[in-house]
Amino acid sequence: MKILDGRKLSNIIKEEIKKEVSKRSSKKKKIPHLAAVLVGNDGASLTYVGSKVRSCKQIGFLSTLIHLKSDITEKKLISELDKLNQNPSIDGYIVQLPLPNHINEERVLLAVDPRKDVDGFHPTNFGRMVLELPSFIPATPFGIIEIIKRYKIETSGKNCLVIGRSNIVGRPISILMSQKVSYGNATVTLAHSRTKNLKELTLKSDIIISALGIPEFLKVDMVKEKVVVIDVGITRVSDKNNSKGYIIKGDVDYVNVSKKASYITPVPGGVGPMTIAMLLQNTLLACKRKD
Ligand code: NAD
Repeated sequence: MKILDGRKLSNIIKEEIKKEVSKRSSKKKKIPHLAAVLVGNDGASLTYVGSKVRSCKQIGFLSTLIHLKSDITEKKLISELDKLNQNPSIDGYIVQLPLPNHINEERVLLAVDPRKDVDGFHPTNFGRMVLELPSFIPATPFGIIEIIKRYKIETSGKNCLVIGRSNIVGRPISILMSQKVSYGNATVTLAHSRTKNLKELTLKSDIIISALGIPEFLKVDMVKEKVVVIDVGITRVSDKNNSKGYIIKGDVDYVNVSKKASYITPVPGGVGPMTIAMLLQNTLLACKRKD
């Protein structure tokens, strides 16, 4: 069994980006600038945004955090996004989800200029991704693809099962894995909460990408020998023995499934760190497109 080490890989990618930024700097080209919009004080969101901003600093990007109060109106929030759309210094920005209940997420995401939509959530980018046109691929599926490419995992003609159909992970990765590209060409099945014969499907799968958010859902008796397992799940499970009061669990019973798998991502240290690295990659791309 080989561990798909997302932490190590993300550091390699960040190092590559850092070198490119320093080359750009010596050629007096624009330094990539990422902005993050955070509404309210949700603990997990603060952590995610904090690590995105720290990563920008590490690799020499400029970063701006726009922290807004949780009672901001939708109209005011959209006017803040307009300012980012107009600001030539900002190459790309993200709106950290979830947003408070009184704000319509769909209207907010539509207000992001697709050229600055480094999360790849705007319908323009999603549509272009489906059509295999240049776009911003959402960071988590992009990270999974990068793992597959760099570990040279064979996907052509393989049975790939994606569990979970969210717009940010399950659905896009199911599309990407079926595309006629080196990391794709798989025969893809997309399972979700209404799927009836899940164990039958998991047992037939050469590659399983799990993005449902139920800790240790995928058990060893559900997978075949030599399966490739990519675990996207991140769930906080309370643990009194941990100083934080919780530990992070993936969707996969890692201890047992790893004994059967040919390749597997750990949680933490798998897909999670890759997501940030690919957000930075998208920001660099947004900046280079302006050259
Ligand atoms: P979500 O929470 O929006 O939806 C969960 C999906 O799982 C749904 O499509 C649902 O149909 C499916 N599902 C639920 N129960 C099921 C069952 N019993 N059998 C089959 N399918 C079932 O999905 P999401 O936003 O993609 O998040 C999924 C997990 O991935 C969460 O743990 C989240 O924290 C994590 N996540 C991680 C990253 C990362 O960077 N590693 C990024 C995004 C999400």
